[in-house]
Amino acid sequence: MINLDVLVVGDFDRDADGNVFGAYSTSVLIRTGDRKIVVDVGTKGTWPAIKTSFRQIGVFPEDVDTVVLTHSHHDHVENLDRFAGAKVLMHSGEERTIERAEIVDADTELTRGVRLVHTPGHTPGSMSVFVDADRRYAITGDAVPKRGNYDRMAPPAICSDPVAALKSIKDIIEYADVIVPGHDAPFAIR
Ligand SMILES: [Zn+2]
Repeated sequence: MINLDVLVVGDFDRDADGNVFGAYSTSVLIRTGDRKIVVDVGTKGTWPAIKTSFRQIGVFPEDVDTVVLTHSHHDHVENLDRFAGAKVLMHSGEERTIERAEIVDADTELTRGVRLVHTPGHTPGSMSVFVDADRRYAITGDAVPKRGNYDRMAPPAICSDPVAALKSIKDIIEYADVIVPGHDAPFAIR
């Protein structure tokens, strides 16, 4: 049995003209029989919301054994120090170093039903987490930052490789029943 809880729904901060001036990521908790895994840890500003989610679910942040970073951008990694005891995993393609991170090469099965999948494009080392729970979830980070990227089949606005990004979106669609985007609410695609 695998449980998946969205701790906070990410978004972009926009001014009155719609220009993006900030960002905070979606953060997800995956619980299996013996593992507690968090995918992306969000920004300092969203920590109160993440902490409240932990309380409502009845899990302590200290009990998280593994943090998966979909990529190294600051809006996905700021609360790492809240998970001091957890192993941190990041893909080898990322250029920015995160001191604590152990480097993995997707595709890797983290535990039964939880798979790390290389979905490059937004950054060279972007990865998604595919979770086979009650439905098939893809926690995508910024491989799919917004629902609109799926609707329009459009690579992320910030993109190191648009061709790879489009292939990554296709790989995600092929697997997922539900997409959990990096900066948007989850949505079902089948
Ligand atoms: Zn990013």
